[in-house]
Amino acid sequence: MILVTGAAGFIGSNFVRSWFLDTDEKVISFDCLTYAGNLLNLTDLEKNENHTFINGDIADSKKLSKILAEYQPRAVINFAAETHVDRSIENPKTFLSTNVMGTYNLLEACLEYWKDQNLKTKEKFCFLHISTDEVYGSLGPDENSFKETSQFRPNSPYSASKASSDHLVRSFFKTFGLPTVTSNCSNNYGPFQFPEKLIPMTICNLLNEKDVPIYGDGKQIRDWLHVFDHCEALKIILKNPKYGEVYNIGASNEIQNLEVVRMICSVLDTRKPRSDSVKYEDLISFVEDRLGHDRRYSIDSSKIKLELGWEPSKSFRAGIEETVQWYLDNLEWVKKISKQ
Ligand code: NAD
Repeated sequence: MILVTGAAGFIGSNFVRSWFLDTDEKVISFDCLTYAGNLLNLTDLEKNENHTFINGDIADSKKLSKILAEYQPRAVINFAAETHVDRSIENPKTFLSTNVMGTYNLLEACLEYWKDQNLKTKEKFCFLHISTDEVYGSLGPDENSFKETSQFRPNSPYSASKASSDHLVRSFFKTFGLPTVTSNCSNNYGPFQFPEKLIPMTICNLLNEKDVPIYGDGKQIRDWLHVFDHCEALKIILKNPKYGEVYNIGASNEIQNLEVVRMICSVLDTRKPRSDSVKYEDLISFVEDRLGHDRRYSIDSSKIKLELGWEPSKSFRAGIEETVQWYLDNLEWVKKISKQ
């Protein structure tokens, strides 16, 4: 049995689905269903008797302790977070509440639970914390990719709150011996991503023939990772966790934002040409840059590749084609989650 927090969000829901591809081991999905979390992301698991959804907040220590005691999970995978950089600029406090205090509460509850276990189950427990490459800050064009040993230099309230959570996880391992692992991944894309992040926002705006706003010159570089490959990496980490370790996860797809948007336009030009025959690129519009906008992220994944044998399987072009098609096939999902 494993407990997955933030399981109704983009990566969490993909992770739970991916989990059941390999095993029948039970999953408790735990999520307080913010605007970004939606049970529609888990509908295909409704009839799976090995899956249970519990509505709850990681800030609710009592509820967490009760669930841990009742279900006795052998691992907790923490995806629960506020995740959108723009929202963290508008309202940093929510990010501190969930990402810092929420993670702290979850760690406390897990520590108390873990301490009460017998030696055998204690040795097998794992708290896997999902974090971001944004904790390392921004790179210049010629700087080396982020390694696990790179200095933390978070630039947005979002990345600062995630960096704090990573430090808390490290401290619970070092100080209390809680068996933890942290992973820092690059920008994910794929199915079930709420249409406020670059790729799904672009697809949805284009399909609605709305402008696609590009911050600044659009030359910011992100290192894209398909959510499927990310979930595979997390399952590999959980197979034989090395406590106290940190793994960077990325697929070496460094691409400028403008190029990503142009690629999506060209895929849609082929798959769903506009009725007026005008190219989708016509809808690109440049807007004032985001405050403190990081210029470049780049992840060095050699540690997880060498130590755990993980390799990404999807090329960016194929992943984008698939993702655009998924949104085309799931317009009802887009409509419903955008309304709530
Ligand atoms: P998301 O915003 O799609 O989902 C977050 C989920 O957490 C939602 O279901 C939300 O309801 C839930 N949640 C929020 N606050 C909660 C709380 N207090 N208690 C319980 N549940 C709560 O985010 P995502 O893109 O799936 O990201 C998952 C994790 O991966 C996050 O920790 C994020 O920082 C990290 N990450 C994401 C990316 C990316 O590109 N999406 C990249 C690097 C790291």
